[in-house]
Amino acid sequence: MGVQDCIFCKIVSGQIPATKIYEDEVVVAFLDIGPISDGHTLVMPRQHVEKVHSCPPELLGQIWTRLGKIAGAVALAVGADGYNVLCNNGRAAGQVVDHLHFHIVPRKTGDGVFAQWPSYKYRPGQVEIIADKIRKHL
Ligand code: AMP
Ligand code: ZN
Repeated sequence: MGVQDCIFCKIVSGQIPATKIYEDEVVVAFLDIGPISDGHTLVMPRQHVEKVHSCPPELLGQIWTRLGKIAGAVALAVGADGYNVLCNNGRAAGQVVDHLHFHIVPRKTGDGVFAQWPSYKYRPGQVEIIADKIRKHL
């Protein structure tokens, strides 16, 4: 999907409507059309970048500088007990729209959202092998 066909670029430019709650020269924040909870918000850069690792670090910093303020306002507005900040990268991770965006999902105690967190234990020695592989790419 190129910039031309990108629905989030079209929201940035105003070609398609969205319920925007905040915008400035760097980001646009708007309510998700298919919310997981009331107030579910998406925060995206105006610039079309696809993923966290392909986002210029400076821009990533500028987005995160704004996330706290927006998340705090969302949580207060809906009386949330907490919230998740999520970013899906790639189809395998659930990314449907290829324009980098962060989900702010307000949470209530015991709401059962994301009830499954399929954690497990590494086999002996496996953790260091994986850590070494990652270090080599940094
Ligand atoms: P992701 O799976 O991380 O790519 O998330 C895409 C999100 O965008 C989904 O939660 C959708 O509900 C949301 N979405 C898609 N189109 C729109 C739209 N036009 N306005 C608001 N949210 C949208
Ligand atoms: Zn885009």
